Formats: sequence, C-alpha cells, structure tokens
Amino acid sequence: MHDSLPLNEPVLSYAPGSAERTAIRAALQHHAGRVTEIPLFIDGQRIEGCSSEALHAPHDHGRRLALVGQAGAAEVRRAIAAAVRAQHDWAAMPFDSRAAIFLRAADLLAGPWRQRLNAATMLGQSKTVYQAEIDSACELIDFLRFNVAFARAMLQQQPLSGPGMRNAMDYRPLEGFIYAVTPFNFTAIAGNLPCAPALLGNTVVWKPAFTASLSNFLFMELLEAAGLPPGVINFVPGSAAAVSEAVLQSQDFAGLHFTGSTEVFDALWQQVAHRLPTFHAYPRLVGETGGKDFVLAHASADADAVAVALLRGAFEYQGQKCSAASRAYLPASLWPRIKARVLADLETLRMGDVEDLGNFMGAVIDRKAFDRIDRYLRQARADGHRILAGGQCDDSQGYFVSPTVIEVDDPQAVTMREEIFGPVLSVMVYPDSDWSQVLSTVDGTSPYALTGAVFARDRDAIEEAARRLRFSAGNFYLNDKPTGAVVGQQPFGGGRRSGTNDKAGSVLNLQRWTSPRTVKETWVPATDYRYPHMA
Ligand code: NAD
Repeated sequence: MHDSLPLNEPVLSYAPGSAERTAIRAALQHHAGRVTEIPLFIDGQRIEGCSSEALHAPHDHGRRLALVGQAGAAEVRRAIAAAVRAQHDWAAMPFDSRAAIFLRAADLLAGPWRQRLNAATMLGQSKTVYQAEIDSACELIDFLRFNVAFARAMLQQQPLSGPGMRNAMDYRPLEGFIYAVTPFNFTAIAGNLPCAPALLGNTVVWKPAFTASLSNFLFMELLEAAGLPPGVINFVPGSAAAVSEAVLQSQDFAGLHFTGSTEVFDALWQQVAHRLPTFHAYPRLVGETGGKDFVLAHASADADAVAVALLRGAFEYQGQKCSAASRAYLPASLWPRIKARVLADLETLRMGDVEDLGNFMGAVIDRKAFDRIDRYLRQARADGHRILAGGQCDDSQGYFVSPTVIEVDDPQAVTMREEIFGPVLSVMVYPDSDWSQVLSTVDGTSPYALTGAVFARDRDAIEEAARRLRFSAGNFYLNDKPTGAVVGQQPFGGGRRSGTNDKAGSVLNLQRWTSPRTVKETWVPATDYRYPHMA
C-alpha cells in the first residue's frame, strides 16, 4: 500500500532572490487597500446580502481585510437542505471521480493558488510566510492527496469470499450531512475537516472560524474551481452558537468533524447527546481539542537541541498551535546552558508585521486571545513566578505578546496546567536525581494528552520515559520539538481531554466517515430446510 502513497509537498524557502518570494509579495500586494466581501456558499451559489462582520489583520487591527457574511438560522436550514439533496448523486459518483476533484484541488493549490492561500493566511491569521507555507500550502495539499491514497486502500479492504458465495463491503457514506466546525489556527485543518468526509461521499455544512474566514473563503473558491458539485460542501460563516443551534435541530445531522477547544467540543457533544433521539442515526463525533504539551529533558540531553526545540516549539506561530510546547521540565545540571541559549536567542528574535519577512513572529489572533494571555501573565506575576523573558503585551498597533519564559517552582502552577494558547512557556527546573518523580509529574499535571517531547541520549532514560508517558501524549517525540507533524508521517491527535484521537490525515480518520454495508451473495441458495442430522 505504501508504494502508492504520494510524496509530501516540498516546503518552499522564500529565501531572498527566490521566485516564491517575488510571488508572495505580489499576492500580498493584491490585498493592499482591499476589503474582500466574503459570501456564504450554499448549493453552489454565493449568498450575498446577509448581515456582515468586519475582519481585521491581527498585527494591524486598524486594517480591515474583509466583510464576512453571517448566516442566520434560515441560511443554515438552506445549507442543510442543499447538503441532503446533493448526497444522492455525490454518493453515487464513482470514488475515482470524487477523488479527481480533490486531486485537482491539490494541484491547483500547489500551483496557481498557492500564494493566494498563503497571503490570505498570513494577513488574516498573522502567520509568517514560512508558517503559512507549511500550513495553507503543504499540509493542505498533503491532506488532499494522502486522503485519496488512504481512502483507496480502505476501499480495497474486503472480506473473504468462501466457495459458493461472494462477500463484499460497500463503504457507504453516513446518511445525512456532516457538520464541520473548524479552528482559526490552521488553514489546512479548516480545509481538511469538510473535505475528508466529502471524499467518502458525505455532504457537509462547514462553519469556519471567523478569524480564518479570508483563507477559508479562498479555499472554498478553490474547491469550486476544482469542480466540486453544488451542495457537497456548504460554507456558512456566522455566529458559532446560532449556526450550531440550527444545525443540531436537523434530524439529518449525521456527524460532527470538529477541531478547536475542549470546552466548545464538550458543549457540542452535550447538545448532541441531549437531542440524540431526534436524529435518524447515531451521529459520529470526531473532535481534536486542546493541549498542554510538554518538553522533558533528561540530564543526558543535548542542551542546545533542547533550547532550539523550546524556541521553535513554544514561539512559532505565537504559541497558537495545539501542539505548542508550553511546559518544560529541565534538569538542574543543564538549566544554566539551556537558559543562556534561550534568552540569548530571544534577544535576536523579531516580532511584527508578517509582511516584513524578517520577522519570526506575528500577532496573536484577536482581542479575546490577547486579553486572555495578558490575564495569565498578570496572574503569574501576582503568584510570584519569575518572568525570565518577555511578558509584555502591546495592542497599540496589533495584538502583540512578546515571547515569554516563566520559571515556576510549583509543578502545579496554573501556567503548567492550563492551555494558554499564546507565546508563553513555563519552565520547572528539577534536581537531576528526581528524574523518576518528574515522569509522574509530567503525566499527572494536565488533563490533556496531545503532544510531548523527551530529550535524552541515555537509551534507558528514553525507554523509561516512553513507557511511563505512554498515555501522556498522542504524538510523542524523542529528541525533537513537539510541533510540526507531517501528514502521512506523524498522524495527528491526542487522548484524554485532547480529543477523540482519530488521527487526521490517516485511514483511522477516514473510517469514521463511512458506515459500511456488508453484502453476501449466494450462488446456489438452499432449497430444503432440513439438515442432514435430521435424517
Ligand atoms: P474554538 O473552540 O474557540 O473554536 C473552534 C470552532 O468552534 C470555531 O469555528 C468556533 O467559531 C466554533 N465555536 C466556538 N464556540 C462555539 C459554540 N458555542 N458552538 C459551536 N461552535 C463554536 O477554538 P479556536 O480558538 O479556533 O482554536 C484553538 C483551539 O483549538 C485550542 O484549544 C487548540 O488546542 C485547539 N486545536 C486543536 C487541534 C488538535 O488537532 N488537537 C488542532 C488545532 C487547534
């Protein structure tokens, strides 16, 4: 099966003088002075004229990027009706024809659409060009191509057919529509959540995150350009609570494909449970949620490798990756060197407008995120924790939070337990001899279990950590940072309160979007009810 897998999309460098650098500048320029009107897409139609909300650039909140149409209950009902209507023909279409649409979308994105999506992700979600490239280009292209390969392999899984019969597994879509609710922080995830179920013949109502509307809208246009038939994916930006309320009133609701915070997934699950008897079938609930991801170093670790993993793992995309390193456990013997390296590198790290390609960081996503992070920092100061670097919040131009390192003595400090979702790393230094105890602390501190990284050269330490932390992370890294999972290489998802761990970008996720029918055909049916023993 692996012989037929696609290759991961190569990451472009955007180094000075490169063609892609010229192209991204032109794509960014396209948005200068422009306010994009973002409609709803229902049944292949752009729905304009709804009320709208203004979307601003996080790093320049005076800059209006778009006016985002807001679906009300009536539009949501239209979207559901369109999805339900479209299902018959879409499900009946041969798999290869459906796959061709997504493969075409991947090639359009790898080629002419690449910088359009990257520019929208940079401006709307405040990603640097590299962070946009690995997300809205490479990861999304990979999702589109790998899902086709994984789905094809799944369809080939067929039961045995004994003598006198034919047995088959008919991979039907779920009956009804799938509700895709997507997060702001990855354009790739936003694109994948509606597309993965659609590939298997499901139809979808997609509610994007408001702050990711610009890139998500362009992806919707890209799917249209790739030939996605009307009604297969219906795009309904709008008030999250209102859209969900309208969606869950439908008896045709067949599944939820969610990525976002644990609280919101909990609330949706409870709403679904409350209405369970009203649905035609038991809905599938797939949700990837929050994290409190750790970096644990053993005394045998390479201090420089730990320092770089912390810098990249904690601060890339302003710490707004579900996989971001946000708590670190470092041995006292290595701490002086790690600390010196981290603090020295932070001095050189630039933050600012993402259109300045010299910056390593942009702004956090919106006012709400900025205020939340600010509250955590104030509390950390009030609690007497030492802020070794950063700690400044400045919203005069954009929502900027400087990369922050907090040293705590209490392993149960709030910043060691709760997801902050910003550029804030909490560090606890432990005596080297406490290694074994620290493993229990790492495992028991937070309710999440998404990603985690262990640095060590000592093989016994690696083995012990892998064993003792088996359930602490769904994506477990050895001598590498806990971020940057690649489709097809590190299928992604966590356990405990980090989600249902259905591993986006793998066959495990695709299996959730099919309700197989088993078919047995007998060549020569029995013509006598009596068995031989009855003679
Ligand atoms: P969020 O929960 O605020 O929003 C996610 C989506 O849910 C958005 O579309 C939002 O509009 C919608 N939503 C919000 N309130 C709702 C409600 N009451 N009813 C229905 N829908 C509602 O999350 P976010 O800020 O977009 O993303 C950050 C979170 O996502 C973090 O917790 C992060 O860890 C998590 N995340 C997890 C993964 C993963 O794979 N585990 C990946 C990316 C992000």
